Amino acid sequence: MTEPTIYELSSAGRKGFTFAEPDVPAFPLPDEFIRKDLPLPELSELDVVRHFTHLSQKNYSIDSGFYPLGSCTMKYNPRINEVVARLNGFAQVHPLQPIETVQGSLVVMYMLQEALKEISGFPAISLQPAAGAHGELVGVLIMRAYHLSHGDAKRKKILLPDSAHGTNPASSSMAGFEAVHLPSDARGNVDLAKLKELCDDTIAGLMLTNPNTLGLFDEHVLEVIDIVHKAGGLVYGDGANLNALLGITRPGDLGFDILHINLHKTFSTPHGGGGPGSGPLAVAEHLADFLPDPLVDIIDPGDEETPPLYGFIHPKKSIGRIKSFHGHFGIIVRALTYILMQGAEGLRDVSEMAVLNANYLMALLKGSYHLPYDRDCMHEFVLEGVWPEAPDIHALDVAKRLMDYGLHPPTNYFPLIVNEALMIEPTESESKQTLDYFADAMRKIAKEAHEQPELLHEAPHATPVGRLDEVKAAKDLVLCCWRPEE
Ligand SMILES: *Cc1c(COP(=O)(O)O)cnc(C)c1O
Repeated sequence: MTEPTIYELSSAGRKGFTFAEPDVPAFPLPDEFIRKDLPLPELSELDVVRHFTHLSQKNYSIDSGFYPLGSCTMKYNPRINEVVARLNGFAQVHPLQPIETVQGSLVVMYMLQEALKEISGFPAISLQPAAGAHGELVGVLIMRAYHLSHGDAKRKKILLPDSAHGTNPASSSMAGFEAVHLPSDARGNVDLAKLKELCDDTIAGLMLTNPNTLGLFDEHVLEVIDIVHKAGGLVYGDGANLNALLGITRPGDLGFDILHINLHKTFSTPHGGGGPGSGPLAVAEHLADFLPDPLVDIIDPGDEETPPLYGFIHPKKSIGRIKSFHGHFGIIVRALTYILMQGAEGLRDVSEMAVLNANYLMALLKGSYHLPYDRDCMHEFVLEGVWPEAPDIHALDVAKRLMDYGLHPPTNYFPLIVNEALMIEPTESESKQTLDYFADAMRKIAKEAHEQPELLHEAPHATPVGRLDEVKAAKDLVLCCWRPEE
């Protein structure tokens, strides 16, 4: 906020660029193509470098510190992924080139499809969806197409556990379904009695996150899937986070019909400002014909002299294209690089370490914070940021105070079924020293909450901007703080 904008730093006549000598004759542009009312900032190269370096240093990122944002799997983004994605053969191709000239890129897509099929236990997959929520929408559209293909038009409801990610009800509604609330039981599993009650011939299916957003593996997952199947419904798996399952169990083997996978979580590609997402959608055999069009496949197996030819195939009952071209190709290259670097055993190690790290942190913190579902967790766990003896302190205060310790806050106020939730996911990337530092900071904050509550209420103290009015920030969003004078 106190940082001047690049327009305010501008000083008429300064220059920060040098054009190369043209290698073609200069050609004057017609006058009507040149805008005279475009006030571009005028700065030296050094001014520009300093301005953007200062801004970047105000940002928090996975490269600058621990980022235990539950459900988001903020793991390290290996640099080798970037090196491979920047290779000219991948970075400079065009999606409309003839397939004979982009065989390498098609092989990469094919290999990623095969790897994700093996990891998830499904026989068919599309790499088109642009993110997790987009994968969900595609998945529920496939559920709809499947039921309609059987002439079954009365299935209008999708069951959603109360621990579900907010995108699940949103995707269901966008696809024209009614989202029906399904409660969890006292151990954090799906409430089986309630599930049986709700399952009839009006349900299109269930969307289940397993491990769920409490970080718990549903102890009756096979029974849950069976109940829904017996009612004629399909079971959608929200596989945004597979970080607890790699090489250990496969949603396809458990009986799920559909699963989306977030490459920008489990498979180490950047999040948010770091690049676009990618949410491949995998399905069981009976749904393969409905996948988005087209898919990459070997269209000519070749022979001893000619290598196989990779190209596109068109699923027979496809719901259609859902993304321009073929998904986020640069992200596909990064995810495949990560998978090949890990290998099968490395991927299993990832999940074992992710689960170990989460349980380690949970054990360190459960004396200082209330742990509402006290079971071994998977890749994450949820604490309460509130104490009976410190009733004025809320999860938000704990989160803000963590910033003073140089840490990114955990996810808070989600899942909704935990009071003042603090949802912590350390991932496998972090060292024991980092986990100990975090646990130490959390325990100090718990003590401060009781002894010096004002420290928490006024936090953060050490960031470029102090406590924001979050309601105002959301309702009165200002994305552009500088405009040219009229
Ligand atoms: C992140 C997440 C999503 C949504 O993924 P986006 O890529 O952010 O759209 C859905 N479900 C769960 C459980 C998630 O953690």
